Amino acid sequence: MPIKILAPEVASKIAAGEVVERPASVVKELLDNALDAGATQIAIEVQGGGVRLIRVVDNGIGIPPEEVDLAFERFATSKVSTAEDLESISSLGFRGEALPSIAAVSEVTMVTRSQDELGGIFLNIKDGAIMQKAKRGCPTGTTITVRSLFRSFPARLKFLKSTATENGHIGQLVTQYSLAYPEVRFILVVDGRTTFRSPGSGSLREVLGVVYGADTAKSMLPIDHGDEREDSLRPMVTGFVSPPSLTRATRGYMSFFVNRRWVQSRMLTYALEEGYHGLLMTGRHPIAVINIGMPPQEMDVNVHPAKSEVKFRHEREVFGAVQKAARNTLLAQAPMPTLGTLQRPPTAPALATEPLFIPEPGAEEAVVRQPPTMPETTEPVARSLPILRVVGQIANTYIITEGPDGIYMIDQHAAHERVLFERIRDQRQRKSVEIQGMLQPVPVELTVRQQELLELQAEALADYGFDIEHFGERTYLVRSVPAVLQGRNVPQSLTELLDFLGEGAQSEWGEGIAVSLACHSAVLAGQVLSQEEMIDLVRQLENTSQPKTCPHGRPTMIHLSAAQLEKGFGRR
Ligand code: ADP
Ligand code: MG
Repeated sequence: MPIKILAPEVASKIAAGEVVERPASVVKELLDNALDAGATQIAIEVQGGGVRLIRVVDNGIGIPPEEVDLAFERFATSKVSTAEDLESISSLGFRGEALPSIAAVSEVTMVTRSQDELGGIFLNIKDGAIMQKAKRGCPTGTTITVRSLFRSFPARLKFLKSTATENGHIGQLVTQYSLAYPEVRFILVVDGRTTFRSPGSGSLREVLGVVYGADTAKSMLPIDHGDEREDSLRPMVTGFVSPPSLTRATRGYMSFFVNRRWVQSRMLTYALEEGYHGLLMTGRHPIAVINIGMPPQEMDVNVHPAKSEVKFRHEREVFGAVQKAARNTLLAQAPMPTLGTLQRPPTAPALATEPLFIPEPGAEEAVVRQPPTMPETTEPVARSLPILRVVGQIANTYIITEGPDGIYMIDQHAAHERVLFERIRDQRQRKSVEIQGMLQPVPVELTVRQQELLELQAEALADYGFDIEHFGERTYLVRSVPAVLQGRNVPQSLTELLDFLGEGAQSEWGEGIAVSLACHSAVLAGQVLSQEEMIDLVRQLENTSQPKTCPHGRPTMIHLSAAQLEKGFGRR
């Protein structure tokens, strides 16, 4: 339909609020428009974190000459016209607000040629008003260039993060859109360098290869919807999930799309993880791309101006569909996890309570994870550590020791993390970090987000002993690592370190590196320790400044006092 200004009673039903928060919001709106216009190739160029320039070039249907002026008016849209239309939105855009909002905070030029026209039109807009309009030869499609974002809004500029952070948001966005639209070729050029390119072949597995690397893409399991007849009213779940042996330390590798709109939803994340119930170690999360298709009237996107939230009419049904899709796929296709795969990366102090088998469907109840039980009377351990005598190891995870006042049960992984964390931190402060050179440089392939974090943290990483060199596109060569990582899987340690930094949980980033290094090099739960090793670890723990907690803040030990023992045995 042609672009028209919405009637006031329709416009008033549009969720109000700010559309342009940061450069990535501009890119998002322009991508929505390009995809709504049926583009099959979209090039995104950004300079200076998107503040200096954002350009999106698409080969979509273009805008007819008689409608170009209207496109920059508020509430002017070709996608909806009545209040009923708002109840079943099938396009990404519908608000008619993006172009005017962008033009209000930047300088915009647009070149567009509608497929029925022989030539195109050039438009120059400043402070929201059209300054220049001319004929211009160009291919079918639309190019929008946004310059000097927020120049007249210094308060806004101040709130933006570093160029690398803004680039990270843009990279993440383009990557997610490429997962939602495998048939569209996306190219992202950041400050003259191509940082991302999707094949546009229509194969989601191929896009996964570009986004997460070939090995990961190969292991991903296509979602199996069994032989349930397609019911057009039911949510239809497609995509890929990782087998339980392929996990990440953060939740940042789960993507959800509803009718191809990228959404962030705790409910969907929870539903997916429920599908993995009993199959993953604590602190590990799956990789997944989940597409949910449903009739547009079954959901409402008119909730938030960024259009990244949706409300479902039948939320429980959606939850169940996602959980079931993941579960069925895993049960049907995943190889049985062995002890080896479950023992992989740490962060889980409670391996002993993890089930080591895939339950039969319907047998879920049997594997409900027991929270680590602590005797009710257990008191917090006092500040400093007494000298402890090692009694032995249980569950290959806990070291049992005796102190002057009862039993101290030590979590070997958490304790070792504390020891290593302080050692690494002190070495860095003294600028005497032990370094391990690689015999041969180890190539590591990073995601766009990890790449930005790496560049942002280059100095701190070098301080810790990393020598990392850019090799091309998103490949880096690691020439040396901190000695604590000796013998560890370097690509995995580095990427998980970057992911951890990306979560931004820690107050100081430099410290975050030490936390992550400690976590990666500490002995694992489930590892058999000799008597000497246990004694050695306990001695080292005694010498740390905060022996009671691991660097993540979890306890390293539980104390059962002599009094509690006596009471428990009825001696008192
Ligand atoms: P909305 O997308 O909500 O309709 P916008 O302000 O983003 O509002 O865009 C206004 C209108 O301009 C759209 O409805 C569409 O008709 C037209 N338009 C914007 N960008 C493009 C594009 N890249 N290709 C074709 N038409 C476009
Ligand atoms: Mg739009």
